[in-house]
Amino acid sequence: MFTHLLGYPRIGLHRELKRACEQYWAGKISQDELLRTGKMIRESNWLQQIAAGIDWLPCGDFSFYDHVLDMSLMLGVIPERFVPLKEKGVDGLDQYFVMARGYQRDGLDIPALEMTKWFNTNYHYLVPEFAPNQSFRLQPDSLLAALAEAQAFQRPVKPILIGPVSYLLLGKMGTAHGNPLHLLPALLPCYADLLRLLHRHGVQWVQLDEPFLATDLSADSLQAFREAYSYLHGEMPEINLLLATYFGGLGNYLPQVVQWPVQGVHLDLISDPEQLQPALQWLPRDKWLSLGIVDGRNVWKNDFTYSLSIIEQAVQKLGQERILLAPSCSLLHVPYDLQLETNSKGLPDMVKNWLAFARQKLEELTLLKQLAFAGTHRQALPRLIENQFAIEQKKMAAFAHLPEIQQRIARLQENDLHRLHPFAIRKAAQQRALQLPLLPTTTIGSFPQTNELRQLRARWNKGEISDKAYEQALEQSIRKVIALQEQIGLDVLVHGEFERSDMVEYFARQLTGFAFTEHGWVQSYGSRCVKPPILYGDVARKQDMTVRWIRFAQSLTSKPVKGMLTGPVTMLKWSFVRNDQPLEQTAYQLALAIRDEVKALEEAGIRVIQIDEPAFREGLPLRKEQQPAYLEWAVKAFRLASCGVKDETQIHTHMCYSEFNSIMQPIADLDADVITIEASRSHMELLDAFGDFQYPNDIGPGIYDIHSPRIPSADEMVALLQKAARIIPVDQLWVNPDCGLKTRNWPEVKASLQNMVAAAQRVRNMY
Ligand code: GLN
Ligand code: ZN
Repeated sequence: MFTHLLGYPRIGLHRELKRACEQYWAGKISQDELLRTGKMIRESNWLQQIAAGIDWLPCGDFSFYDHVLDMSLMLGVIPERFVPLKEKGVDGLDQYFVMARGYQRDGLDIPALEMTKWFNTNYHYLVPEFAPNQSFRLQPDSLLAALAEAQAFQRPVKPILIGPVSYLLLGKMGTAHGNPLHLLPALLPCYADLLRLLHRHGVQWVQLDEPFLATDLSADSLQAFREAYSYLHGEMPEINLLLATYFGGLGNYLPQVVQWPVQGVHLDLISDPEQLQPALQWLPRDKWLSLGIVDGRNVWKNDFTYSLSIIEQAVQKLGQERILLAPSCSLLHVPYDLQLETNSKGLPDMVKNWLAFARQKLEELTLLKQLAFAGTHRQALPRLIENQFAIEQKKMAAFAHLPEIQQRIARLQENDLHRLHPFAIRKAAQQRALQLPLLPTTTIGSFPQTNELRQLRARWNKGEISDKAYEQALEQSIRKVIALQEQIGLDVLVHGEFERSDMVEYFARQLTGFAFTEHGWVQSYGSRCVKPPILYGDVARKQDMTVRWIRFAQSLTSKPVKGMLTGPVTMLKWSFVRNDQPLEQTAYQLALAIRDEVKALEEAGIRVIQIDEPAFREGLPLRKEQQPAYLEWAVKAFRLASCGVKDETQIHTHMCYSEFNSIMQPIADLDADVITIEASRSHMELLDAFGDFQYPNDIGPGIYDIHSPRIPSADEMVALLQKAARIIPVDQLWVNPDCGLKTRNWPEVKASLQNMVAAAQRVRNMY
């Protein structure tokens, strides 16, 4: 029995990679310094793994930006538009960063590769872009260099690669249509060469990640898998392939997948524990089974008693020799090290004792292996007793359970999930109350957060400035932004969200049941990291969360100011969530807290309230058969949060980065009066789903791309609005940007919004 891992965090214990990359991009450090930082992080990672007693070291899991992009470069997949850069002397690592971030200099304007979410996680990868006649050329140098570094530690090293079929399925054809899988015959020889090289360098096991096996596959794709693995086996029977699957189970594919000519299969037994039995039944007796039993997506301590029972079942069927113990997926999705957390104010000691971050998870694997070998003696071993105690304590801890909240949820009734009247009646009532013009204009919530403001908040957090001084500064910002919006002529105003560092953390801090880390960073993309709160207990709203700021903003203007809240699904998806109750229970608790805030806003005279759900789509399970159950509770949670108001109170929701085709009915079931979506980058294509569906309520397709510093002209926004009006009846349309303006600067925002309002006025005159 051996322990191994599917990947480790790579931003560095103290986010050294983030700093080094950003300094390198700003021209403040040399490429050598950046490369040294990378090497230091890789070595530190291996040393942590060795100290924890891991048997096989991974390599190839480090990346300066994204491991899918690394794969593209290793295979020579570099779209045409990046080629002219060579003449400008931009190559190697610099070319790599240009592919990740784009290039706007010396008269060149080269857009980056598209970025999108990595399956159902909040990690984003760079989408490989293939030419119709794409050829592949192996460039293995950086992988071989990392291999040599790892092998210096004198342990078996297992390179980690994205498998050929998933690599193609992650990508898209750069031009028009076409199926990336047609490139498989051209791609496979490259993989075979790579395996040959690795073998020559002493590698015995290679892990090939094929996460697409956890999704619904077409017959074509399944055929591609069969072809790929029989080809690779035919070319390189000497090397052992570990086929890694994660983020879900193999489902119906399991009996055939375990027959493919690979030497081992890794299963994610956290997201799908049920697949253990079929795997034990179907796995040929000469193959290895990697048990993904330590949760790679969440931060809770492993329940040793439970995991040992799984290991035991596997050992009984397969014997000990061919069993591997591993986290369920790469540890990329959890923070580095719990030991860095020393502030018990955000993270109570008791909660800390329930947690395991990446480093602790490695120790758990080693311990599980030792305990598995200890047989019946283990019952007396302190590490098992300690573990059982923490698990029990988490189940029982009184401070995490609030009976009154649980009762409130148990007592919920159908009419708590419905507005008083259907949309048409509400729309008339809202029109009487708000007197909005045709094509009303609004924004999505946040306005630029300046450095000054961030510094102010940091000082306030440290206690260096008083509450009063901080609040006055915020009020000053709100005054400015209200005046600006009035001057520009927007119809529904916002307060700017200046008091928020983050749309989830701001609310989490005011609810019970959440804990906070100081160093719990997780890579979101490139150098961007997030620090998700930890939801450990029942959620209750302790006091008003936003009313003070919205009421203040409303007191400055006669135009309606929109209250701004984060929805239950997004609160859930962007936190580490408890694993001791179904997600839907937690979602309802969050929804009740938001419902109470919505009511408080309404009572304070706020007539428009937005509940953001940018993560609604991200929560969709990978397999179709599991989607209806998710959608049912996610819709219910939103309705619970939003339906407690009068007819004349207008509920908005906002979703970005979403593709709505398969979820139009659930979106309509949310029954928000207005939904705003991101649409400008797709030139309103995302709106088609709403048009085809004949979406009944109001909708604001974003006509201003806030991801770019470009200022859109009124002409171009008029064109987008006209296009929208051909898809959706004009009296259902709103006019707004794609998303919040937090990351833009003031001059860009002013000019763009002026143009946006001018565009709305021009289009109004056409109807
Ligand atoms: N109201 C938020 C903002 O404007 C929405 C952010 C989001 O959708 N990601 O910043
Ligand atoms: Zn958004």
